Amino acid sequence: MAKKTLAKKNKLNGGLEGNIRRLIKKHKTPLMLMNRAALIEQHAKFKRYLSNVFPYYAIKANPHPEIIKTFIKLGTGFDVASGAEMKMVLDLGALPEKVIFANTIKSSEDLAFAHKNKVNLMTFDNESELYKIAKHCPGARVLLRIKVDNVGSTVELSLKFGAEPDQAIFLLRKAKSLGLKPAGVAFHVGSQCVNVENYLKALDISGSIFNEAKQIGLNLDILDIGGGFPIRHFDNDGHVSLKDIAQPIKKKMRRLFNKNTRFIAEPGRFFAGPAGTLITQVIGRTFRNNRNYYYLNDGVYADFSGIVFDHCRYEYKTLSRGQKFLSTLAGPTCDSFDTISLNVDLPELDVGNIVYVKNIGAYSCASAVPNFNGFKPAKILFR
Ligand SMILES: *Cc1c(COP(=O)(O)O)cnc(C)c1O
Repeated sequence: MAKKTLAKKNKLNGGLEGNIRRLIKKHKTPLMLMNRAALIEQHAKFKRYLSNVFPYYAIKANPHPEIIKTFIKLGTGFDVASGAEMKMVLDLGALPEKVIFANTIKSSEDLAFAHKNKVNLMTFDNESELYKIAKHCPGARVLLRIKVDNVGSTVELSLKFGAEPDQAIFLLRKAKSLGLKPAGVAFHVGSQCVNVENYLKALDISGSIFNEAKQIGLNLDILDIGGGFPIRHFDNDGHVSLKDIAQPIKKKMRRLFNKNTRFIAEPGRFFAGPAGTLITQVIGRTFRNNRNYYYLNDGVYADFSGIVFDHCRYEYKTLSRGQKFLSTLAGPTCDSFDTISLNVDLPELDVGNIVYVKNIGAYSCASAVPNFNGFKPAKILFR
C-alpha cells in the first residue's frame, strides 16, 4: 500500500479510536455506533457505480428505524420479506409504490396486508404462490425469481429459492392467466458476492427469458438484480469493490436489454454494513490451549450473530498496541458455542480493554437474541 494511503488510513482509524475513547467514558459497552454519513455515502456510491439501477434497501440487513428514515429521505425503495417489515417501513413514511415484497414465500395474511396497503410489486418462484397472490393481491405485478449461480458468495441463497430458468415461461404465462401482471425477472447471486461472473451469468439467463417472453407476447420490463454487493471486512484483503463489478454488469445490461427495461436491486449489506462499528470490552481473561483467551461482553448470541447466520469473519481491532499473540475471543454467555474467534492475533489485553470491529452494521444487531443468559445486545448510538 502506498505510504500516503496508509497514512490516511491510520489517521482515519486514529479519528475513530479517539471517538471510541471519548464515547466509552459516556456510554457503557457493548456499543454499536451507527454512522449516518456512512449510510449516505454507500447510497451515493451505489448511485455512482450503478447509476441505471434503482435500489430497494433490504431491511433485513438492519431494520433500525433511523436507517429506514435516512433512506426514505434519500428516496430509495425498500425490500421487505414479511408483513411486519412492510408495516415498519410504511409506518415510517415509505411510499407503497417504493416497496417490493421480495420473499418468494408469503403468508396469506401478509399478502392481504400488502393488498390493503397498495404494495403491488412482489417476487415468486413457484406455481402455488401464484394462486395465493392472485387470491389475496389480485392484479399484482410479479417478478419471477430464478435460481442462479452463487459461486464464491459468502452466503448461498439459491439453495432455498429460485425457479429453474427452464420453467420461467410456463410460470410467467401462468401468472398472466391468473390475472396477475408478469413484470419481469429477479435473482440473487448470494450475499457478499465477490465473483462478478455470478451477476453476468444471471444477466445472460434473464436476457434469454426476456427474449423468449417477448416472442409469446409477454413484455417484461423489470429486471431485479437482487443484492450481494460486497463490502470490505478486512483492511488488507484484496477487496473486490462495487466499482470493480459495476462496469461489467452495466455493460452486459446495455447489451442484453432494451431501453425500456427498468433495472432495480435489493442491496442490504452494501447499504448498512459500513455504517456500523461495534465496541466491546474484555470482561475476563485466562490462558487456555496455549493462547490468550479473552471473554468479551458481546458474543455470537448478540451482535456477533453474523458469525453464525451470515458466515461472516471480522477484523478485530484494539486500542492497545504492542507485540501480538495468538488469542481466542469468546462471548459472555455460559455456552462454549459462544466463541467469536479461535485464532486471532492480538496484543496483550486486560480486563476493561477495548476490542472493536468496523463494517459490522449488517446482519449483526438484526439477528441478535434480545436477552440470552441475561446479556443484552449492544446499545445502538446514531451519530
Ligand atoms: C437478503 C436479501 C437481500 C439483501 O442481500 P445483500 O447480500 O445483503 O445485499 C436482497 N434480496 C433478497 C431477496 C434477500 O433475501
